[in-house]
Amino acid sequence: MNKRSDPKVPFSVENIKRCRCPGCPVQNGSQCVSEKLGKLDDVMKAVSRGKAPTAGDVPGVYCSTGVATCKDLNPTQPCICGTCSVWQQYNLASGKPAGYFCRSGMAV
Ligand code: SF4
Ligand code: SF4
Repeated sequence: MNKRSDPKVPFSVENIKRCRCPGCPVQNGSQCVSEKLGKLDDVMKAVSRGKAPTAGDVPGVYCSTGVATCKDLNPTQPCICGTCSVWQQYNLASGKPAGYFCRSGMAV
């Protein structure tokens, strides 16, 4: 059993790069996400120099970090986590929630 402080999915650079959330229809219309994506290259450059990524800077990997900090997402659109290699690697289909981690919280 994982604790809240011990996510099933690591919040790693590798998983940030693999995450499909930036292209998800749930986030497409979000001004908040658009602003974060605009800064993501700089964030990742800082991470490559040794700075730890923070959940608030990355509009994705919600299976690891939990509910999105952006509040203007549209969960009536389809979640595309099922197309993600992170979702497949960690067998997130068998967990709760099994998708919409941005709305429902991290995978446990
Ligand atoms: S499973 Fe979903 S939230 Fe997790 S990394 Fe993949 S697309 Fe992002
Ligand atoms: S967790 Fe699912 S619904 Fe939310 S942004 Fe990522 S792919 Fe889309």
